[in-house]
Amino acid sequence: MLENMNPLLKEATEKGYGIPAPGVNDFQTLEAVFQACSELKAPLIIDCVPRNDIEAVADMTKFLVKRYPHVPAALNLDHGTTFDVCAKAIQFGFSSVMIDCSKEPFEENVRVTAEVVKMAHAVGVSVEAELGYLGTASEITADFHDSFTKPVEAQKFVEQTSVDCLAVAVGTAHGFYQGDAPRIDLERIAELKKTLPVPLVLHGGSSAGDEQLANAVKAGIAKINLFSDLSSAGTNAVREFLDKDEKIVLGFMPLSMAYGVGVKAYKEMFMHYIQVFGCKNRV
Ligand SMILES: [Zn+2]
Repeated sequence: MLENMNPLLKEATEKGYGIPAPGVNDFQTLEAVFQACSELKAPLIIDCVPRNDIEAVADMTKFLVKRYPHVPAALNLDHGTTFDVCAKAIQFGFSSVMIDCSKEPFEENVRVTAEVVKMAHAVGVSVEAELGYLGTASEITADFHDSFTKPVEAQKFVEQTSVDCLAVAVGTAHGFYQGDAPRIDLERIAELKKTLPVPLVLHGGSSAGDEQLANAVKAGIAKINLFSDLSSAGTNAVREFLDKDEKIVLGFMPLSMAYGVGVKAYKEMFMHYIQVFGCKNRV
């Protein structure tokens, strides 16, 4: 059975490790992350954004939970922006949803998040929300720091919404950074951890650097969302493979063979992060 995210994140917070949450949308990469967690004895949180076929992802994940019953796994809707899409994901069987109204004013973010929490908690589903603004890496400007999550405001937000965990803006952004990765505000993470009664989530983990990410976990991050690093490991491996294999020229290679090369590299990158975040041998 798919698990609610709460027990997984609570344990990570208490024991000081981080759970890497891959953004996944097809069967091969879904099975790869289950295999990785099975081999390294790690818990699994799968993120999936609404623009994917969330009904299919829910069904495939439920199938894989039966195939890998020893892997504790949660399926979380990533960046749901409306009440309706969160309700739909829950109907399909997601065990967790993220409602992201971080672009809205504080009061509106509280109002919608609280509504989603009420609905989700009624059916045993956990909720992640976001406070502070985390855009894409290409949007980073000089006033970037103004959008970081403020501890006092975050405390009010958690109290007013009863949300289960909070995505915080502390220096990362989605996608790849142009030039150096920004410095993650570790002091702010530590302060947020001290102030808030719920686990903290870091989005935009890709290309922030292993050392910074490991330090973010030490400072108090319990879940790290990853997409770009995993995806590019896979696509680069496919590109390299196609460039060098002459069987392609002859035209008799099954498509699944090329994709399999990418999935293997994707899985290896995911296993790397499980170890960087201290998540190995936790189940
Ligand atoms: Zn995100």
